[in-house]
Formats: sequence, structure tokens, C-alpha cells
Amino acid sequence: MTTPQPSQGRSYEVVTDALNRRVGPARFPRDPQQWTNYLCPVHEGDGHHHNPSLGVRYDPRQGKTMVRCWARCNDEEVLDRIGLRVRDLWDRLPEREPNRPPIGVHGQRYGVTERRALTPVERAITAAQFPTLAKRDLGAQTGRPQNVDTYVYKWPNGRVEGAVTRVHTPHEHGYAKSFWQARWTGTEWEKAGFAPIPWKLTDIREALDTGREILVCEGEKDVQRANQAGLIATCNAMGAGSWNSEHARWLAGAGRVIVVADRDRPGYQHAAKVADTLTDRVGEVRVLQARSGKDLSDHFDAGYDLTDLEPVPYLDRPRQRERFHTPVMSRARTRSR
Ligand SMILES: [Zn+2]
Repeated sequence: MTTPQPSQGRSYEVVTDALNRRVGPARFPRDPQQWTNYLCPVHEGDGHHHNPSLGVRYDPRQGKTMVRCWARCNDEEVLDRIGLRVRDLWDRLPEREPNRPPIGVHGQRYGVTERRALTPVERAITAAQFPTLAKRDLGAQTGRPQNVDTYVYKWPNGRVEGAVTRVHTPHEHGYAKSFWQARWTGTEWEKAGFAPIPWKLTDIREALDTGREILVCEGEKDVQRANQAGLIATCNAMGAGSWNSEHARWLAGAGRVIVVADRDRPGYQHAAKVADTLTDRVGEVRVLQARSGKDLSDHFDAGYDLTDLEPVPYLDRPRQRERFHTPVMSRARTRSR
């Protein structure tokens, strides 16, 4: 190439990072400015063999990453499944400008449509200053994908609903991680998604009965680590971006829920969504993170315990519910005195 333009921008890193986490790496990666096909997280995230049909390419003139499902899945739904939003498709956004004031940023700098205050999760991500080029270079694939663990999801009465299988694909420098889902039809396993129930519903029931606190982690591996430490924990299938209010309903009435956020952008977005869906359903929601490393397993590996978890700035708002119970009028009166 003779053009001096950079071949890819930050948005391309963000999108491909998220896809690698959610559906695994592209089988045939191409130049960022050409379409590379990934498995579509909406209609191909079931573990079946598919010819990947989610095209991703970078447009350097717009500073934008294009994401398009050739089977016509909805763009926002595709992004939602990988923990991103439409605005993540552009390189230049307020949250990636570390030295700008976080509130009340106006559009002229970034484009005329950007005219609102940042959300708490955008502020949290800005404050954390996650490296944008943190993607590990795994090198070439050196072996076949291998199923390394299977996590069975059951209803409270013990009936099996489905399972998530964790897959490691060996590379020169480590392994790529991916997952596939299967649904239990009552007589056989069908490679398909299943009902949105949290993992370990029996444990959640016990916590609701006894008043014990519940941890919500990003994945099954961390739930297992929490269980080993004697804690009650849960997660949703398929990791960051896949939690919704259906999952949250099962935790309704819990005294205290601790959302353990992975230390990266999808992790913060996921934790914020979990916390938002729980705020009006439980006594208290905390949003905490590892003191060392990226997730709860790293935190425990470093010798820390539950009480060492750190609050995530902007996302951890202890006893937030009280704020909602303060009528707007009386607050206004108090302030004017
Ligand atoms: Zn699709």
C-alpha cells in the first residue's frame, strides 16, 4: 500500500477484540480495510458449524468500523451481543479522549450529533484509561479447537435447560477462548441457544432464603472460583453483553448483590447493565473489581479475598435506592434553603 493513512483505527481494535471474546477469532483474517468475516453473535453463536457471515472492515476516511451481518441481523442487536453500542464504531469519541472534561462535552469537536453528558459507564471507562491496543498477539493457530469444560444450566427444580461449552484453540503464544451453547430438548442435545436463566439457580434460591449475598461474575470460570471460596455466585451464558432483565428477575428480593466487573471495556459495560437491571429488584447493588489482574480468578490467584475487591469508580453507588425514594420536589426545596 502506498497511502500514508493508518490502515486501522481504535474502533477496529475495539470491535475485533469484542468479537474475539464473544465468537472467537476470524478464520481468515484480512487487511482491516477489506471485509473479514466473523461468526455473527446473533444467528451463529450456537456452536454449529457456519460459514461466518458477519463482515467487519475499517473505513479510514470516516474513522469508522463497519459491521454488517450478510444475513441481515439488526446492527444494534449484533453490537449489543458483544457488549458494544453504535457509537463504539467510530474512532473519535469523548470517552477515548483522556484529558477532556467528562461532563457536558459538546458536539463541535466530535461531530454535531454528540451533545449530551456522558453516562456513568462512559465515565468509568474514561477514568480507567484502558489501553486500546491491549490485544495479545497469539501468533498462528497450532492445533484443533478443544472442548475444555461444560457448564450445565438448570431450572430451580433441577430440570436441565442447556449447557455452555468452553473451547480453547491452541496458538503459538497461548490459546484463543470461545464458547458454544446447546439446549436440552428433554431427550437430546440440540446445538442452539437456550432460555435466559442465570447459572446455579439452586444456589440463588438458597441465597434468597438465607439472606446471603450473591456475586454476579462475567463467566462460569469465575463463578467456580467464587464457589471454591465458599461464596454464592452466578453469571449468564455467553459472557459479557448477554445479560438481560430476564436474568435479573431471578435475583429479585436478594439483600445484597456484588457485581464483579472485569477490568476492560466490555467488562464495565456488562457490569453496568447487570447493576442497572438489579437496582430496583434487590436491597443493595455493589459494583466491584479485582485489586490485581482482570477478573475474580486473577484477584484470588494474587492472594486477595472478597473484602479486598475495589469499587469501580462511577459504577459503584452503594445504597443507590435511597436516592430514588427522595421525591424531586422535596430535594429542590432542601437545596433552595
Ligand atoms: Zn447475523
